[in-house]
Amino acid sequence: MQQVRSILMVGGGLANGLAALRLTTQRPEVQVRLLEAGPQLGGEHTWCWHDSDLAGETSWLTQLASASWDGYDVRFPEYQRTLSGRYHALRSSDFHRQLMEVLGDRVQTSTAVTEVHAKHVVLDSGEQLQADCVIDGRGLFDANFAPCAYQKFHGLFVTTAAPHGLTRPLLMDATVSQLDGYRFLYLLPWSDRELLVEDTRYSDNPDLDPAELRAEIVAYLARAGFGSYEITGDESGCLPLPLYGARSPQFKDGLLYAGMRAGLFHPTTGYSMPDAARFANWLVSNSDRGSAALARAASKRARSVWRRGDFCRRLNSMFFKAAAPTERRHVMARFYERDPQLIARFYSGSLSFFDCLRLLSGPPPVPVADGARAFFLKTTNTERGL
Ligand SMILES: Cc1cc2nc3c(=O)[nH]c(=O)nc-3n(C[C@H](O)[C@H](O)[C@H](O)COP(=O)(O)OP(=O)(O)OC[C@H]3O[C@@H](n4cnc5c(N)ncnc54)[C@H](O)[C@@H]3O)c2cc1C
Repeated sequence: MQQVRSILMVGGGLANGLAALRLTTQRPEVQVRLLEAGPQLGGEHTWCWHDSDLAGETSWLTQLASASWDGYDVRFPEYQRTLSGRYHALRSSDFHRQLMEVLGDRVQTSTAVTEVHAKHVVLDSGEQLQADCVIDGRGLFDANFAPCAYQKFHGLFVTTAAPHGLTRPLLMDATVSQLDGYRFLYLLPWSDRELLVEDTRYSDNPDLDPAELRAEIVAYLARAGFGSYEITGDESGCLPLPLYGARSPQFKDGLLYAGMRAGLFHPTTGYSMPDAARFANWLVSNSDRGSAALARAASKRARSVWRRGDFCRRLNSMFFKAAAPTERRHVMARFYERDPQLIARFYSGSLSFFDCLRLLSGPPPVPVADGARAFFLKTTNTERGL
């Protein structure tokens, strides 16, 4: 069995980008080629993560961050809380710049791939490229995690005329009116005058009207007294939150899958940064296998990550099916009153059996019978949005 010597990575987004970076620095003998349809790596995103999301040596990732903070706040009508721990954000423009410095001509942007096979790909120019192994990291393209709900958001980058006064992220300001499901504002202070402000909704449907959310953000900034500011950019997203019983990711024999496409994301947030970093590390320590064995091992690993997400998908079902849209805020408020270590383990995907019991303990935040039905019965509902 010959070990993998060359890898073609399709899609220069978060997962393949981090994997290419790690392979190039840790296993330089493996030839990497990263093919991205867009003009730059990573598209238009801001990725955030907590230090506690990842175990072991994480300095390679934290040194990529565009900004880092100590602690963060959450705000509900009943209370406000500051949680400790480092929180990081990486802007895709910084991701692109830093990856290009290391990867250089291993990257081909503006290169769309039309066919993906175990050992070759076809470009839209018709050219065929061969390698020992191909990794499909095309994001949500063609992925189907139905039935699911959605985390959707629109954000504005603003520069305030006077210092805004925020010194750490406000991860959830849920004191706002509850529109279209659970709704909160999310604020990241890049500097004393620069902010990212997002209007986020945990909703039954994927419909997103950027103009409406933009108007809501503008109204929020006025109410919160941020004074005058200039809008310098925006970003939008809509991420699937699979319910219990959702279709698992599908893998073709011989192919490797990375990122969202492989189902490597947190079921209750749709976030994939920690899973992408873990996948990059996994690939480095498994790249001495032959290509077929590597593909089998990657699929097995992805299926096991998906199975471990079952508890969170059951929670999604309770949240979206047992709680009325305007009542979902109470569920989140209850969650953020819990032990900070438990909250950290929830987001890092490392809940123990007793953590799961703890999360289900206490006065039920949703009607008991509806909650139990949503938790124990797989959702087969294929209505729009669910
Ligand atoms: C605006 C936004 C903000 C987010 N914020 C966070 C966050 O804070 N924290 C977090 O953990 N997660 C966040 N997420 C969720 C998730 O982590 C991201 O969606 C992440 O980028 C997914 O990584 P990926 O590698 O699977 O896919 P992507 O990063 O989407 O990469 C897929 C890449 O494949 C390319 N591609 C697609 N088809 C082809 C083709 N045929 N040929 C060549 N290239 C192709 C695309 O152009 C794209 O660059 C966010 C998502 C969005 C949309």
